[in-house]
Amino acid sequence: MNRKCLAPTLSIVPEDAQLYRIPIGWPALHSQLVPQLSWPESGLFLVLLAASLYGFWLRFGKVWRTVRASKKDPEFRIQPVGRRVTDFIWEVLLQGKVIWQRPLPGLAHALVFWGFCVFALITANHFAEALHIGFLDRTGIFGTFYFDFAGVFAIAVAISISGLAFRRFVVRPKWLGPLSKESGIIALLIFLLMITYLATFVPGWESSRLLWWAHTLTLLAFLPLIPHTKHLHLVLSPVTVFMKRDSFSKIPPLAGDDDFGLDTGKDVTELIALQAFTCVECGRCSQYCPATNTGKLLNPKEIALGVRRYLNEFGPESEQPLIGVHLSQEAVFQCTTCGSCEFQCPVGIQHLPMIIGLRRGAVNTGKWEDDYGTKLFLNMERNGNALGFSSSERDKFVEKQELPIFDGTQEYCLWLGCMGGYDPQGREIIASLARILRGLNVTFGVLRKEKCTGDPARRLGNDLAFGQLAESNLETLRQSQVKKIISICPHCVRTMSTDWAEYGQAPPIEHHSEFLARNLDKLPERTGDGQKIVYHDPCYLGRYRNVYDEPRDVVGKFGTLIDPPRSRERSFCCGAGGGLAFLGEEKGKRISVERAEELAGTGASVVAAACPFCNTMLRDALTGVSATAPKLLDIAQIAAASFAPKEAGDR
Ligand code: SF4
Ligand code: SF4
Repeated sequence: MNRKCLAPTLSIVPEDAQLYRIPIGWPALHSQLVPQLSWPESGLFLVLLAASLYGFWLRFGKVWRTVRASKKDPEFRIQPVGRRVTDFIWEVLLQGKVIWQRPLPGLAHALVFWGFCVFALITANHFAEALHIGFLDRTGIFGTFYFDFAGVFAIAVAISISGLAFRRFVVRPKWLGPLSKESGIIALLIFLLMITYLATFVPGWESSRLLWWAHTLTLLAFLPLIPHTKHLHLVLSPVTVFMKRDSFSKIPPLAGDDDFGLDTGKDVTELIALQAFTCVECGRCSQYCPATNTGKLLNPKEIALGVRRYLNEFGPESEQPLIGVHLSQEAVFQCTTCGSCEFQCPVGIQHLPMIIGLRRGAVNTGKWEDDYGTKLFLNMERNGNALGFSSSERDKFVEKQELPIFDGTQEYCLWLGCMGGYDPQGREIIASLARILRGLNVTFGVLRKEKCTGDPARRLGNDLAFGQLAESNLETLRQSQVKKIISICPHCVRTMSTDWAEYGQAPPIEHHSEFLARNLDKLPERTGDGQKIVYHDPCYLGRYRNVYDEPRDVVGKFGTLIDPPRSRERSFCCGAGGGLAFLGEEKGKRISVERAEELAGTGASVVAAACPFCNTMLRDALTGVSATAPKLLDIAQIAAASFAPKEAGDR
């Protein structure tokens, strides 16, 4: 523990050995300033170390066995390793995600983590010294440097852990939940570790046996506490971050006909179990969850903890239903699949596979009984669209707008989607985009027949309906020889580009914001009225597709762009995703109203959306929040105003 060896002698003289109780004949690496232990003390240390390790293993071994006894993740591949290494470096080693999300507490947390890393060597040497086999030569250049270097980190860690404790126990952000005794004890132990190390730098205290034992006992008390508390993430999170699924909000494929999703403990996979045990209960996921924020039962943190509690109580081989004591079906079906939780989580927990897995388990085993849900699935099955209209309604719209039919010669297939084909506001967006495409002389056509992409079925856990729709549409696109697709709906874009991959490869698809941004300089200039336009990031365009700047570029060309307080990666959902647009009235405050209030509160005269679902949810909500509510327009409608209707052939 001491940093310097003041006597570079090669052997210990008997007088010194007596003074510091050094066994005569031990090498001089353990100098007079290192409190060498007597053999009884070394023996006591070994007993305490064994007890501490046993305490650690008692819980950690159980967690380890639970994870290993869980089902293998179907189609899990360690490749590509490069992506995993990059995530590991950014999220674990550099603590980039934590710092980026919450700079001050994030930096404090990072310093504690980096301090732990630096102290790994110091601690190993500290234990080795107890057995007289210390390996860090404190008289050497490296030893001197390293012990001083660790001293700097000890100061940083002591300050950081004090700051984090102050935040947790005095500031008390509500997302951290009730005060936790264990957090206080852990913080105190870390602080003590640093102080007992730093005290060895005080002249005269270098070889204090009292300090040595204080440091040692703190370490030995800290070790078994790790797996028994949420600080288990210290050990698990590096593994969890490295092993997490390879893309955001990925819905893993079912393993076969006998796989119904997450129904009982037997269905919990290794990744889900590992992630459930890793949760550090920080509440970041809850803080940004639209359901939690509007008084619903759903709290994403409780989903992860619910799985953990289930595994603790029943184990991974239990046939006890997952939904029951620790997990609520009502909560699971309140998720909009906005992805905010997964995006925020600092330790690699992927909530969507859990939530959608639980929905699958409930839907595929007939345990979810919901009139709206049943009607929705029937609509998709019988009419091929989620709104339940006859396909002839779509034909009439196509005819009225004189939308060309795709014949294989045009550049783009304009995908209408359920909202663009049947919903009045969605149709206005399609008409605007068609006007722009004509104005830019871009050739396009719509399919004669088109079915729902299956997005609501997929997110609600109905794999059968989703698979049928995906296969049918893929066949239509193949027969029509479509090469490129453009869509106004981020949900369609996501589902076709990613979810359909289980059934076949769809042609490349882009969202209209990407197309418009690419063609921005070709859009006619318009002397705007300087109107302030607030842009609402749709979850499936932003977090899911990483498209943030393109729609802003479009808005910025025709007005003064402003962002609401929650924007970009932290955008607040409109409430429609995950099939919820079709599931009837919400409990608690409507998510769309919460968002509309925020958007209207910016003082903008126009709200710009880039998703027909956001459009329909916010339209109603905005009229309710203010008598002088801002006008709601899709970015296609804003851009299309540059084209004179007659010139563009608009009908
Ligand atoms: S996906 Fe969105 S709505 Fe669902 S739990 Fe996560 S944050 Fe909440
Ligand atoms: S799931 Fe992730 S974000 Fe949510 S409380 Fe646990 S560690 Fe924090």
